[in-house]
Amino acid sequence: MPEFNPELRKDPISGRWVIISSARAQRPEAPEPRREEETPEARARCPFCYGREDQTPPEIFTIRINGESANSPGWLTRVVPNKFPAFGIFPEISLRRVGMFQMATGYGAHEVAIESPEHDVYLEQQPLSQIARIVDTWWERHVDLERDRKLKYVLLFKNHGKAAGASLTHPHGQIIATTVIPDVLKSKLLNAKEHFVNGEGCIWCRQIEQLFYYENKIYNPDGSVLVAIQQRDRVVAENAKFVAYIPFAARMPYEIHILPKLHQYSFIQTSPEERLELAKMLKLVLMKIYKLLGNPPYNFYIHSAPNLNITPRTGDYGTIREDFHWHIEILVRTTIWAGFEQGSGIYINPLNPTDAARYLAETEIDQ
Ligand SMILES: [Zn+2]
Ligand SMILES: [Zn+2]
Ligand SMILES: [Zn+2]
Repeated sequence: MPEFNPELRKDPISGRWVIISSARAQRPEAPEPRREEETPEARARCPFCYGREDQTPPEIFTIRINGESANSPGWLTRVVPNKFPAFGIFPEISLRRVGMFQMATGYGAHEVAIESPEHDVYLEQQPLSQIARIVDTWWERHVDLERDRKLKYVLLFKNHGKAAGASLTHPHGQIIATTVIPDVLKSKLLNAKEHFVNGEGCIWCRQIEQLFYYENKIYNPDGSVLVAIQQRDRVVAENAKFVAYIPFAARMPYEIHILPKLHQYSFIQTSPEERLELAKMLKLVLMKIYKLLGNPPYNFYIHSAPNLNITPRTGDYGTIREDFHWHIEILVRTTIWAGFEQGSGIYINPLNPTDAARYLAETEIDQ
């Protein structure tokens, strides 16, 4: 037997291939958490800090300690337009052609959700009550943006650490709403629909079923078990409403998905109780990452169904309420995607998902 067997795995939702090559697999050393470096000048200029509300465009939404006036201190979470937006709310969407190329006005929304008046606290380090307010803030903005019938897709995401694209260290997430459905989503939506119309139900519900109730066994001719694969080994954490696990074909050592256990097509369907459970799950999983890997850079995003206020109930997305299951994908930046990944769309993951899940599951967090 060679020392390791690289394995090709296919992700059933995105259709993408991953090479799991665990030759270099080793348990992380739980390094001292590293803080991002920041100059005192940059810190003093931070537009998201308490008392500097006039440094941002006027706020769109806040959760406040009762009765304070807008754009002044007294807030707990605060959403403002991005100062350097990728999109803006323009009066008209105009489509143009330039030779073979298509262009449209960059209609859309680009907002920043500031997670705390304090500068030096990470999302996961905040008290549960504050993380619950942050999750509620995302929800409020998502629901509101879907009222705009020109916006087809709302994406909530967070960059943590410079290497993950965060330009300001003050804790914040971002919300982008677009007039087009992003390609990454389109292929997922189509694969999910295909799975559904084949009579196999929701592809995410099936994955949860496999994690908990399904034993994968390969038998010898005499009926004895040759290999038993415990899918449950990929579970990182679980609570009353949510499960966090490493996908079968993870692109990176610490790619973690968080799913509601019961079927829902969009984050906007969550109840306040469910959002509290989500806050608990996010805190737990992000604290495990922080502790095991020493505050690494990470990104996460929420994938919901497109805006169903405008998406037709027939055609490609006719069964979307049943076939799409919203989820969060966390990508910890411990590896760099290089030429091979970018040129082929095939990812090399040097850590077996089962090992990654075990390291995280075994990382204890006082709650
Ligand atoms: Zn700040
Ligand atoms: Zn489902
Ligand atoms: Zn997704």
